[in-house]
Formats: sequence, C-alpha cells, structure tokens
Amino acid sequence: MTANIIDGKLMAQELREQLAQKVAHLPTPPHLAVILVGNDEASIIYDRNKKKAAEAIGMQCTIHHLDENTPQEELLQLIHRLNTDSAVNGIIVQMPLPKHFNSEQIIESIDHAKDVDGFGIYNIGLLHSNDSSAMVAATPQAVLYMLQQTLGNIAGKHAVIIGRSNIVGRPLASLLLNNHCTVTIAHSKTVNLPQIAASADILVSACGVAKLVKKEWIKPGATVIDVGINRIDGKLCGDVDFDEAKEIAEYITPVPGGVGPMTVTMLLNNTLRAYIEQNSGLKK
Ligand code: NAD
Repeated sequence: MTANIIDGKLMAQELREQLAQKVAHLPTPPHLAVILVGNDEASIIYDRNKKKAAEAIGMQCTIHHLDENTPQEELLQLIHRLNTDSAVNGIIVQMPLPKHFNSEQIIESIDHAKDVDGFGIYNIGLLHSNDSSAMVAATPQAVLYMLQQTLGNIAGKHAVIIGRSNIVGRPLASLLLNNHCTVTIAHSKTVNLPQIAASADILVSACGVAKLVKKEWIKPGATVIDVGINRIDGKLCGDVDFDEAKEIAEYITPVPGGVGPMTVTMLLNNTLRAYIEQNSGLKK
C-alpha cells in the first residue's frame, strides 16, 4: 500500500483564496503586527513569509524589527501601544526572544483579543475549558483542519501526539480532545513509545527528531501528521521516516509541503477572526 499524500500546500492555497474573498468584503484590511527582535536568520525568513502571505490576501502586516539589545521595558511599551491602537487587530512576538527577555511577561502583556498566536494564558485557559471563543495556536489548528478535511469526523479516534510543548503538543491535545478523540500525549520520557504510537488511528509527531518515527511505529491504515521541521545534510525532513511510513499509513503529510504552509494560513485566519470580533463588539 502507498499512502495518500495530504497536500498542505494545496489546502493552504484553497483556504487562502477563501480568506482573500472575505477580506475583500471588509471596509478596511485586517492588520497584523509582527514584532521581531534581533537578527536570527530563520525568524527573519518566517516573518517575511508571514508578511508576504498576509499581503497576498489583502491584509496589512507591519513588521516591527527591534535591535537585539532592546530592553524589556521598551518592548512592553511597544506592545502597549499596539494593544491600544484600534487599527491593529493581531499582535505576535516572534520567538525565541534573545535571552535577556522574560518571554512569559512579554506574551502575557499582549491583549488577549489580539493574541492571534494563542500563546497567552487566557486563551490557553479557554482552549483547555473547551470554550469555542479561544484563540487557538496556528499549528494545532492546522493539524485539526487537515485531519477534518481528510477524515471528516474524527470522534472516537485514538490520537497519539509525540511532543508536549506549549505551542504544539499540549494545545493540540486539548483541541483533539475537544473534538472527541481519545488522546495520548507522548514525550521524551515516554516508555514503550513505538508500541504506543502503533496503537494510534491518528499519529501526530511534533518532537523535532529527524526520522524518529519508523514503519513499525505505525498502525496499518493510520493517518500520520508530521509537524517536525528538521534538516539532514541541509535537506528538510520531518520527524517521520516518510519513505517507510508511506508504505503502511493510509494518509500522510510530507515535509516540506504539509503542516508548514497550513500554519501560516491559520495565523491569517486568526487575524481575520480577531478583526471581525473587534469590529462587531464581540470582544473589546
Ligand atoms: P519543543 O522542543 O518545544 O518540544 C519537543 C517535544 O518533543 C518535547 O515535549 C519533548 O519531550 C518531545 N521529544 C523530544 N525528543 C523526543 C523523543 N526522542 N521521543 C519522544 N518525544 C520527544 O519543540 P516544538 O516547538 O513543539 O516543535 C516540535 C517540532 O515541530 C520542531 O521540529 C519544530 O521545528 C516543528 N514545528 C513546526 C511547525 C510547523 O508549522 N510545521 C510549527 C511549530 C513547530
């Protein structure tokens, strides 16, 4: 058997067209503010891509690029200014920040109505309480969207997530639980990981270990979502050994061209949602 490929690039393109149509009908473009501190090359590329993607669907995106040595207080002041600027609908701070920053304090200083990354405690709390008004982090939303587009109803499926980070594993576990999956979270201390993974109807890997997931880790007919972004000899690859896995899974995402493009799209979706909520008086 050769698995069906879940084409994240195509899915993202279709969703972005729908978002562009919605944006075209708004009186003003939704505005995303991106704060980038320092000169980390990967972060600069990520943020440039976000701006390009936002502008391609008619949104406004401003990158505030600050010096590496910017003091915490100055960054907090900028966030306060953006929080109170009614022309800004979404604010994200590119992580990781340079070491001297207190990242938790920075994240918590973002108005929860503009927290389009969904990293703040308020939105995490709503998500964990199964409150649909939660602004949910983009990558977990991307994974859910891809699963629903591929499988339809996922209620009752056993989902195993490898990784328990605050930006992928944990919020994804809540999201899948809220969508009636039976969820197992595995991590670096998990015992018998291959056996646990092989019991999954839906296997999501978000651990950042290149080609960790082998054929024996996959139940025949399972759906495999690979969130990992790794490099071997400069070449991009996921957490899943794709060539092996595609022989046994029914559906699988590639890396690149899987979860990545959908993540940026979900960030734009969150920004549009924030705009609508702020302008309809649903949220302050
Ligand atoms: P992280 O380092 O914060 O967390 C990794 C998690 O994996 C931890 O919970 C750890 O316990 C677990 N882990 C590590 N090694 C393991 C092992 N050998 N077995 C089982 N579990 C193990 O990483 P993160 O920020 O959650 O990102 C994970 C991966 O996803 C990275 O490769 C990252 O680049 C990628 N990522 C991709 C996107 C996307 O849009 N495609 C978005 C975010 C992150």
